[in-house]
Amino acid sequence: MAGLDWDAVEMARRVQSGEVSALELVDASLERIAAVDSNIGAFLYVDDVGARQSARRLDSELTRDQKKSLPLAGVPVAIKDNLVTRQMPTTAASKMLQGFMSPYDATVVERLLAAGAIPVGKVNLDEFAMGSSTEHSAYQVTRNPWDISRVPGGSSGGSAAAVAAGMVPLALGSDTGGSIRTPASYCGVFGMKPTYGRVSRYGLIAFASSLDQVGPFSRTVRDAALLLHVISGRDPHDATSVDVSSTAPTVVVADPTQMRIGLPEEYFGDGIDPNVRTQVDAALETLKGLGATLVPISLPHTRYAIATYYLIANAEASSNLSRYDGVRYGFRETAPDLIQMYSRTRSQGFGDEVQRRILLGTHALSAGYYDAYYLKAQKVRTLIRRDFDQAFESVDLIVTPTVPDLPFKFGERALDPLQMYLTDIFTVTTNLAGLPGLSQPIGLADGLPVGLQWIAPALEEERILGMASALEAVLPVPSWPMQGGLSR
Ligand code: GLN
Repeated sequence: MAGLDWDAVEMARRVQSGEVSALELVDASLERIAAVDSNIGAFLYVDDVGARQSARRLDSELTRDQKKSLPLAGVPVAIKDNLVTRQMPTTAASKMLQGFMSPYDATVVERLLAAGAIPVGKVNLDEFAMGSSTEHSAYQVTRNPWDISRVPGGSSGGSAAAVAAGMVPLALGSDTGGSIRTPASYCGVFGMKPTYGRVSRYGLIAFASSLDQVGPFSRTVRDAALLLHVISGRDPHDATSVDVSSTAPTVVVADPTQMRIGLPEEYFGDGIDPNVRTQVDAALETLKGLGATLVPISLPHTRYAIATYYLIANAEASSNLSRYDGVRYGFRETAPDLIQMYSRTRSQGFGDEVQRRILLGTHALSAGYYDAYYLKAQKVRTLIRRDFDQAFESVDLIVTPTVPDLPFKFGERALDPLQMYLTDIFTVTTNLAGLPGLSQPIGLADGLPVGLQWIAPALEEERILGMASALEAVLPVPSWPMQGGLSR
């Protein structure tokens, strides 16, 4: 099995036609995990027994016609460990949930299973998805497959690394302020945050409920489109899921000559690594060559985005995380009385970054400061959304660099929270505005991947996929990492 040429659409087709068995695919994925994951550290849990069992069942119990009705027949998938699963433990990379077994599957997991996909394991993240490098996991470090001395980005670093290193063709992640797009950019794969409400959040462990979305990681645009199709659509379990049908399973390649693409000046200023700038400029030239019209635009409230995001996200997080009290879930520290039990459980069970966020969030929500911080942030959020509304009156799509720089080394930002927060400067705005965003790999600088971010109006994921596909067709495909080995 040519494990390195993972292509989910092709794999499902071969399983449907009987050219290959689901078990062969799952075995290839598990072999690849066994061969490389000791160096990468993407997986927190590998369900080899369960995955093989599901594959055998699919192979032996389904007729050809039944297989044909499964869009992801036999395709191995990795799941970020903040999505609850009945068959595998769910930890959110926190000591607080060590050994936690969910009594139900997240809606997105149910939909994967119904589509014939085979979850092979749960992958690493920053604790409760709080971070940009996956260094805040309570359990292990995940390394960037392109250079193992560097971070894979975060918080969905495990999902991005698992796809980039050829362990699975597809993975699910979650994005609250960039957690799909940042690691996709750093690991050289596609990663999409859908429109808020496009995908159900039922069974996604809540970080900031007004910003969280689940989305796909893949190595091609058409694989991203297929996975998005499978997981999207209305879910009665999530009142914020939008009542529109799923996105299309296949990509309709867009005609670039019909596209007006906005370049926001605030995303192309100082502070961008010149290596990133060069790659992004080259991609823009390519788009122009395809006939797209590039239009300078302005999103003037961008400068307030990081402050606004960290006020709102942390306020919501402090409320969401109050449920981890030592009584209802997982970890509990013993103590002579109830108050001490709460306090010891929460100071032992949560890592430093999570505690920092709870402190910041409760402060922003406290009686004396609510108006000055939280309410003000909500007002600025509206202004940021209006910037986009206005821009989309004159352009069809917006492009920006996904991240201002290249993947950094371990430890470089872990001790400086503000530096870490600034990694998300180009991604948080779409979460605040509820819009869809995709990071597309556009090439290498110094041997490290660079990503281009596409942003569209709400529910226009297909427009993004169509243009990303037009660009993908003419960009030289970077040779995948780890074919020749792991060191650097
Ligand atoms: N890095 C951002 C944060 O730490 C975004 C995280 C995310 O999208 N889950 O909050």
